[in-house]
Amino acid sequence: MEEGKTQVMKYEPVIGLEVHVELNTKSKMFCRCSADYFGKEPNTHTCPVCLGLPGALPYTNKQAIEDCIKIGLALNCEIAEKSLFERKNYFYPDLPKGYQISQYRWPLCTGGRLQVTGNRIIRINRVHQEEDTGKLTHEGNETLIDFNRSGVPLVEIVTEPDFHDVESVRDYAKKLQQLFRYLEVSNADMERGDMRLEANISVKRKGESGLPNYRIELKNINSFRFMVAAIDYEIKRQKAALEKGEKLSQETRGWNEDKKCTYIQRSKEEAHDYRYFPEPDLPEFRIQSSEFRIKEIKKNMPEMPWVKAERFIKDYGISENNSKILTETKELAEFFEIAVEHGKAHEVSAKEIANYLINKKPDIASFLPTQVIEELKGKKVGVIEDSGELEKLAQQAIDENPKSAADYKAGKEAALQALIGGIMRLSSGKADAGKAKEILLELLK
Ligand SMILES: [Zn+2]
Repeated sequence: MEEGKTQVMKYEPVIGLEVHVELNTKSKMFCRCSADYFGKEPNTHTCPVCLGLPGALPYTNKQAIEDCIKIGLALNCEIAEKSLFERKNYFYPDLPKGYQISQYRWPLCTGGRLQVTGNRIIRINRVHQEEDTGKLTHEGNETLIDFNRSGVPLVEIVTEPDFHDVESVRDYAKKLQQLFRYLEVSNADMERGDMRLEANISVKRKGESGLPNYRIELKNINSFRFMVAAIDYEIKRQKAALEKGEKLSQETRGWNEDKKCTYIQRSKEEAHDYRYFPEPDLPEFRIQSSEFRIKEIKKNMPEMPWVKAERFIKDYGISENNSKILTETKELAEFFEIAVEHGKAHEVSAKEIANYLINKKPDIASFLPTQVIEELKGKKVGVIEDSGELEKLAQQAIDENPKSAADYKAGKEAALQALIGGIMRLSSGKADAGKAKEILLELLK
């Protein structure tokens, strides 16, 4: 036991993380094919551009660039004044062009940071834009290729090797997932492959300066749980190897969930093997041009989850832990604030509402903020029940918030809560929420 302890003290893990996130834009990165490919018939979302047919010319998806900038801004990055795409050349059957359009020397965003638990700052090296590859499926002796995913916008977020424990890695990855969902740039569903993690892991003797001269790349990790297990395993494996005096070298490893161990996939290619060069078919783009205005993009960004969490503590006097739970999703946070607004008119405190939401966990997709107040008061509290008056309020709420109305019409059910919130605010929490919702739905038809 004692020996094990000293071993833990002697070495320090050095970990960097690369996160790929698929954007939920309507179309692909460089063509007009639908990017909504999940579960669709293979090779039905394709065209000459994303199949890499000779002569096909790509053009840039503006929404994807905006989404990438949003992620960069949220992570406190510098946004480049000009940026361009490059070709990353390598041969693999899921890459029909023989190269991936990516960014290497001129990434869109550089030099950001994100704070993780324990007040640790993780430096972000870069946030860049690229395209996804096709998908290979191995069936017995055959390999099938589906190009529906080929060319779907992908953003890569690369940290400096600033992690020294696996908890910080998990915290960081979860924060990113939450951020993508707040920004509504991706569903960030790990199982569906919307969000993929790669970790670079090495181990050095404590107190040793500089970085170790090798690093192990862990690839294709599709859950937080596997990532934690794989990193834990790697740290132990590398420590044991160094203890025995073995020399570790650069390689890529995968995670075998059945055997609970990592295994070697290949020795790593160096960056220069990719022969990056500027993509000649796409012009460089200027960010402060009329096309992309940082100010405009910033205006359309929501409050960041960690900022919201701080504000909830300050404004509503709730605990740090409760604030964290209530801001986990934007929808729950909005629901809470609407209920608080409504509660003011009925002497129900924010703390009571917070406790109710956390302990009872109502399904907020079908539950109304006013119902929380009614449950807490033990009686019906809606005062304005007059249809004419409610219709006026509903219309006003729609006029004041056309974006939520449009979002709802486009299929985002959650946007309705913002409109109900509007009615509550306009009526000082006196509207009958059930009736108001009915009228709202009628008006939005
Ligand atoms: Zn296409």
